[in-house]
Amino acid sequence: MGYCKNLPLPGAKLMQFFASLGLIFSVLNIWRGTEGWSYHYSTKTMDWEDARNWCRQNYTDMVAIQNKEEISHLHNFLPKPNKGYYWIGMRKTDGIWTWVGTNKRLSKKAENWASNEPNNGGNNEDCVEMYIKRGKDDGKWNDMSCSSKNTALCYTASCKNDSCISGQGECVETINDHTCSCFEGFYGERCEHVVKCKPEDITTPDHGSVQCSNGSFSYDSNCEYSCEEGYKIKGSRTTKCTSTKEWSSRPPTCELVQCPELMKPLGGTMLCHDPKGNFSYQSTCDFVCDEGYTLRDSSSSTLFCGITGHWNDSQPNCEIVKCKPEDITTPDHGSVQCSNGSFSYDSNCEYNCEEGYKMKGSRTTRCTSTKEWSSRPPTCELVQCPELMEPLGGTMLCHDPKGTFSYQSTCDFVCDEGYTLRDSSSSTLFCGITGHWNDSQPNCEIIKCKPEDITTPDHGSVQCSHPNGGFSYDSKCKFSCEEGYKVKGSSTTRCTSTKEWSSRPPTCELIQCPALENAADGLLNCTSNFSYGSMCIFSCAEGYHLRGASEISCTETAEWSQETPHCEAHPESLVTEVTLGVAATVGSSGLLLALWILKKLRRNANKFDLNSNSETEDQPQVYKNSISSLI
Ligand code: CA
Repeated sequence: MGYCKNLPLPGAKLMQFFASLGLIFSVLNIWRGTEGWSYHYSTKTMDWEDARNWCRQNYTDMVAIQNKEEISHLHNFLPKPNKGYYWIGMRKTDGIWTWVGTNKRLSKKAENWASNEPNNGGNNEDCVEMYIKRGKDDGKWNDMSCSSKNTALCYTASCKNDSCISGQGECVETINDHTCSCFEGFYGERCEHVVKCKPEDITTPDHGSVQCSNGSFSYDSNCEYSCEEGYKIKGSRTTKCTSTKEWSSRPPTCELVQCPELMKPLGGTMLCHDPKGNFSYQSTCDFVCDEGYTLRDSSSSTLFCGITGHWNDSQPNCEIVKCKPEDITTPDHGSVQCSNGSFSYDSNCEYNCEEGYKMKGSRTTRCTSTKEWSSRPPTCELVQCPELMEPLGGTMLCHDPKGTFSYQSTCDFVCDEGYTLRDSSSSTLFCGITGHWNDSQPNCEIIKCKPEDITTPDHGSVQCSHPNGGFSYDSKCKFSCEEGYKVKGSSTTRCTSTKEWSSRPPTCELIQCPALENAADGLLNCTSNFSYGSMCIFSCAEGYHLRGASEISCTETAEWSQETPHCEAHPESLVTEVTLGVAATVGSSGLLLALWILKKLRRNANKFDLNSNSETEDQPQVYKNSISSLI
């Protein structure tokens, strides 16, 4: 036997209670059916276990107190029991108070114990009774021994299998009723409606696309965004339609994949090709270092921005080329100075040599882009003057403080006798800093005398000997004269060191014998004028005879060949005899004389001008006549 009564309760309050209990998430509405939840009680008392069985056999289960309103309702509705109180559906299990219908433990918040309860008085008070119309602690609970006898308090469930849409809500019993507690995203009395989000909130991002799990845009549906290659999603990749009709996230944007910004290296250039955007996906940057710089920090001179937003290599830098400092060496007798201490590209070093040393090689060197110096260090070489030669006919004496024929060398030239210095204005040459002698190589030249000063004398000849060449120092000339002539002056001359001949050329002088005079008693008949070769014939007057040679001739030594004869008188001498003798003599000797002269003329043809050579005008008429008549 039971007693039933439907009892509707205000929905708002119930909702508040449920929320506080935390049993059910939320209730959007309450469905009220004609068959509600109802309470029933037994007319007999029984222990807790029997009460539970009785309730389950006849109704749904023991009452589980859900809220204060329910307690209030029950207190009003239930009669004061004759004995004991009402069993409710809570029992201690493993020491924990648990609602037997739902097997949920009693929460602290939902506790409704009477004062000083549960006291476990008398031990094993493992079941719960509720005071109804007791006058004290009405509606409160007391722990009680399960074997005690109490009235069973049952309920009949209002929820049916199809009370709420399966999977979208849960049916919750209320006092005399039930409601559908909709799961998130669902609403309606039976939770038959699903929350929908705005489709227009799903927009396709530029350079991207979106795909939604179904076309309904309803609760819990997903949309997934994606971006084109080279674009990176910014925002949430997926969005979900939430219970608040809002999408869980705003549409993302597709942003071009960006690589870190690159810098133009110092000492180089960067040239980028950006098909999509600066330093973005597929951008290519080429790095070229200026001359004198080399690429560093990157193995590649071309960087490519990849899909992950990373360059394929690190930022290249340009490093200035350095040349080896140890290649710069100070030359002997020199020095070097470099433009800066870095020995880097384009730095210069300048070499210098000490005075008197000449650089062989390059004066400057420069660090080139190939890390090499443009030239090797020069050497400092002693300034050399051209080699000098000891002249022919002279000597050279050099003083070389540094080296042979080198800077500051001094050479003295002395010519032998008969030679004079030529080709140089100085007999001492000095090797100057420029490697030149202050004058040209001196030579010794043989002294020459004037050839024209050697003249052939008339009636003479000259013969020269030239031990050193023509008419030069020590040349000797010897003069000689024709027969009948003698040298007047020096017969030899020599070319002296003063360029003068030792003597002037001589002349050839006709050899003259002493003049002869007619003796008083004789007659002198001479050819030519007492000069060389002239012949004189002596004759004596009648009564005289010649004593000595009748004929004498003028010899080379300008002397007569014999002593001059003289006429001596003898006693019987007669003038006629003398006259005849003379005439006969003239007759016979005239012929002899003519023959002799002719012979002489043939020998001295063209050399002898009898007339012009005549020194005296008073030639004997005889001689003249004889010659002319013969010729
Ligand atoms: Ca108790």
